Amino acid sequence: MSTDFKPTAEPIGRLIQELNELPGIGPKSAQRLTYHLLRAPAEKAEALAEAIRAVKEKVSLCSICLNSTDSEPCAICRDEERDHSTICVVEEPIDILPLERTRKYKGLYHVLHGVIAPADGIGPDELRIKELLSRLNAGSVTEVILATNPNLEGEATAMYLQRLIAPLGIRLTRLARGLPYGGDLEYADDVTLSRALEGRQDV
Ligand SMILES: [Zn+2]
Repeated sequence: MSTDFKPTAEPIGRLIQELNELPGIGPKSAQRLTYHLLRAPAEKAEALAEAIRAVKEKVSLCSICLNSTDSEPCAICRDEERDHSTICVVEEPIDILPLERTRKYKGLYHVLHGVIAPADGIGPDELRIKELLSRLNAGSVTEVILATNPNLEGEATAMYLQRLIAPLGIRLTRLARGLPYGGDLEYADDVTLSRALEGRQDV
């Protein structure tokens, strides 16, 4: 079956096109999903459309940690049981999921919304670093865990933050080695990530 086969109905072609633009979905998967939805009951397809609409309409960024949330502040920042003196710095909201899954981390987060990547024209000013510094300057934080991804941009970003935060006299740690270099936090398994958290080292 050729992937550039033209479906007979325009809406089918349109859905294939939209799905194909999503990350990780090639033309074959886009076709398969489209025909699956075509066969599915109308309520199923409507529930999917409604779920997509809801994330766009109801989810925004927490004003404190900049994580995705449907309440303000987010459930993590609001949680009195959590350790408000520790902040774990991550690249993207999705990176919080694997860390929460370990159930080993009880502190708060800060989402940078990117990494320093000169090749893509992304400098420190494009990241939410100002917001992090004002949280640290408020005075109640005693440890910052740098949990950017273990790759070139992640390391460069961690080093940049290290230079900024060191003068503040706050304990600064980096997730332990053992996370596969070049990999994403997002794909780390629970055990590896738990170990990396427990074995975090001062920088
Ligand atoms: Zn928050």
